[in-house]
Amino acid sequence: MSETKTKETTYKPTSPNSKLDFASLWEYSEAPESSANLEIKDKYDLFIGGKFVKPSKDRYFKSINPSSNEEVTQFAEATQKDVDKAVKAARKAFKGEWSDLNPSSRGKYIYRIARMLQERAREFAIAESIDGGKPIRESRDVDIPLAAAYFFYYAGWADKLEYAFPGKKPEALGVCGQIIPWNFPLLMLAWKIAPALACGNTVVLKPAETTSLTAMMFAELVKDAGLPDGVVNIVTGAGQTGAEIVNHKDIDKIAFTGSTNVGKIIQKSLAGTDKKYTLELGGKGALILFEDAPIDQAVEGIINAIYFNQGHVCCAGSRLLVQENIADKVIMKLKDRLETLIVGDPLDKNTDIGAINSKEQFDRVNSYLELGVEEGAEVYQSKCSVPENGYFIRPTLFTNVSQSNRVVQEEIFGPVLTVQSFRTADEAIEKANNTPFGLAGGVWTDKGSKIFKVGSALRSGVVWANTYNKFDPTSPFGGYKESGVGREGGLHGLSAYLNLK
Ligand code: ADP
Repeated sequence: MSETKTKETTYKPTSPNSKLDFASLWEYSEAPESSANLEIKDKYDLFIGGKFVKPSKDRYFKSINPSSNEEVTQFAEATQKDVDKAVKAARKAFKGEWSDLNPSSRGKYIYRIARMLQERAREFAIAESIDGGKPIRESRDVDIPLAAAYFFYYAGWADKLEYAFPGKKPEALGVCGQIIPWNFPLLMLAWKIAPALACGNTVVLKPAETTSLTAMMFAELVKDAGLPDGVVNIVTGAGQTGAEIVNHKDIDKIAFTGSTNVGKIIQKSLAGTDKKYTLELGGKGALILFEDAPIDQAVEGIINAIYFNQGHVCCAGSRLLVQENIADKVIMKLKDRLETLIVGDPLDKNTDIGAINSKEQFDRVNSYLELGVEEGAEVYQSKCSVPENGYFIRPTLFTNVSQSNRVVQEEIFGPVLTVQSFRTADEAIEKANNTPFGLAGGVWTDKGSKIFKVGSALRSGVVWANTYNKFDPTSPFGGYKESGVGREGGLHGLSAYLNLK
């Protein structure tokens, strides 16, 4: 193993002084009480068959801290040969020890993982913010506790699968290939690994190339937890490594979360094979704000819906549809609120909006900012200062946009909200549904009947009412249309990892 170096990142949380109070949206918050010292290695090898092994071509790639542009560490680049080795290790574990284990023992391992995640929560939170750019308040209060919550939830199902699906005979699928994105690295790992293991499968997981640190720390945790070798294998690399997993002949299921473009490529590769798959792809969530809603509360909800995690959220509410007679007032309040948001150092607990995840994404969001102007939108950007180094974008509003504009139709995946108005509920529904996506939406109104009418009419996998971006392990999550296939979370998430005979 390579030598370890201790980063001098000592994070001392004090009382929460949050401008954007995302923490209050979750019940899992367990704020750390003392400082944490995080050890980041110079480089990380692949985790295959319970061991850290060098990549066959001995190639490593850099991971950059997007808030400083400095190198964080290096990860191994897994080739086809390495992926094959990982799949073989996963198959061996599936045929052997893991399948022989009784389900309650399997559950105990998953509980152990959940508890160890809680014990190491501070280190994971800091690593997530350094490697990916998200504000520490979010990593600390949302990502890591929620990741542990998914392991706790699915651990409980491990020995109750027959009760979950009465009259059926649940059987594990086998080896699952799992490819995850960079916006919620550890949380997406938990969404994938926890249900797969609970159902008795083994996994080969690939984290995103810009955010592999917490996945490799998770590999260390799995080793420490004493999981049988080969049950969890983690291979790092970019798109090519992902494609090797998708195309491997001995994989029974592919679970992918990422962009719609890559999702389409994967779906084409899988057509005609007998692999099962779930795809959780992009979105362009509409926030429908009616005149009867409590406006200040709604404005707060909208700010959370779009600026949480720099807008790097597939279910982000990135299109505001506001009833015409309150539109001016709402836009004014939104602009005032944008001015209070702090953009900057992800490790500062007062930061509301951290760094854009990578140079590539920074360029992509900026090109949409230019496009909006070309399309005739009016742009409002907050005037706060941003650090000189690193990739930062101030929270942005586009007004004066129309339904056909590309900034309204396409996923920007950054801190950018478009604002349109509507007169009637039917008009709002039509506009909300009129994009290629169907992942999430929100409704703000004082009237339960409107929530029901609009909520039922939205072609979205998730609809939140008078709140947004609230996640729970018990509830299914997934999309319609180009937002994906299949559901994760809850019982739906379990069935996606089983043959139900
Ligand atoms: P983004 O475009 O926002 O970076 P991607 O969809 O490209 O998001 O990335 C999500 C995950 O998919 C990452 O782990 C990435 O390495 C992986 N990936 C990218 N291209 C492919 C591909 N052709 N096949 C399989 N996985 C891929």
